[in-house]
Amino acid sequence: MLLRAHDLYMTFLLNGRQLAKEIEDRLRDEIAIGTEKAGRPPGLAVIRVGDDPASEVYVSNKEKACSRIGVESFGSYFPEKTSEVELIDAIESLNKNDLVDGILLQLPVPQGIDEGLLLDHIHPDKDADGLHTVNLGKLIKGEKGPRSCTPAGVMALLARNNISLKGKRSVVVGRSILVGKPMALMLQAANSTVSVAHSETRDLIDLTRQAEILVVAAGCPLIIGAEHVQKNAVVVDVGIHRIGNGTSLSKSQAQKKLCGDVNFDEVAHIASALTPVPGGVGPMTVTMLLANTTILWQEHCGLSLTLGDLLP
Ligand code: NAD
Repeated sequence: MLLRAHDLYMTFLLNGRQLAKEIEDRLRDEIAIGTEKAGRPPGLAVIRVGDDPASEVYVSNKEKACSRIGVESFGSYFPEKTSEVELIDAIESLNKNDLVDGILLQLPVPQGIDEGLLLDHIHPDKDADGLHTVNLGKLIKGEKGPRSCTPAGVMALLARNNISLKGKRSVVVGRSILVGKPMALMLQAANSTVSVAHSETRDLIDLTRQAEILVVAAGCPLIIGAEHVQKNAVVVDVGIHRIGNGTSLSKSQAQKKLCGDVNFDEVAHIASALTPVPGGVGPMTVTMLLANTTILWQEHCGLSLTLGDLLP
């Protein structure tokens, strides 16, 4: 699982693409076995509102992933001007649909729509993204439940690469409900000592340099450079950005057309392990969505619960 990066780099790449494939293979097998007993496959409904081009790509990737492992997709698209009431009606009808095990609201939703309100209308037992208030509460209390996909994917990637967290100093950059906050809770539950940085944090460099484990989810291209990272830190880059004109990147980075919040070329000389962009956290996010959905399906259909170890 640990791949030697380019010879010039000191770091090992945390290969999310490979782990995602391994987990997908396992899910596909469980779905094939369970579908015979349950009489139906798992179902996932992804709700997309508005025309954000990145969301369109993400939703399409999620639907392709469903079809790879035998999850039935119940996608719904709503134009930007759809009212909250119409969206709540759509969610309620998916809550009642016995073929749907998981519901995901693709974020961000257009301005003016209250995403927290919509998320809390998803039934907690169908909450494929683990963002319902009840499921965030379960995370805080250490109870089992669907987990927020991106941080759950990060935890799986760290575990698979035998990166121990117990007693380690972790810093999470970002405090969103989608990534930063659940990430910090998961690291803390794994007995790491966690600090959270955000847009109002003073002296970011002082804080991030203390991190043995640094998870960056700020949504700012290349915000973390060599000066932010201590020698041999493990660095996880959640950020993902399309490279446009004006982004200052080396030729090898620019060829990838995507970059993260971390300046890969700089940090790869310092970190002991690092996630690439693309191919690090992104594929794990999709896979953990499939894991949440398949586990919910096993629960709804009274099947043996064989996948609990996949979630933190
Ligand atoms: P967000 O905008 O909701 O939150 C960003 C957080 O970063 C905020 O809490 C903010 O306080 C903090 N922040 C912003 N600027 C900062 C700075 N200069 N210093 C310190 N903190 C700062 O974003 P999000 O939804 O949490 O996503 C973060 C990034 O991760 C985005 O690039 C997003 O595209 C990406 N993302 C990737 C995946 C994936 O699967 N790879 C999944 C979700 C999000």
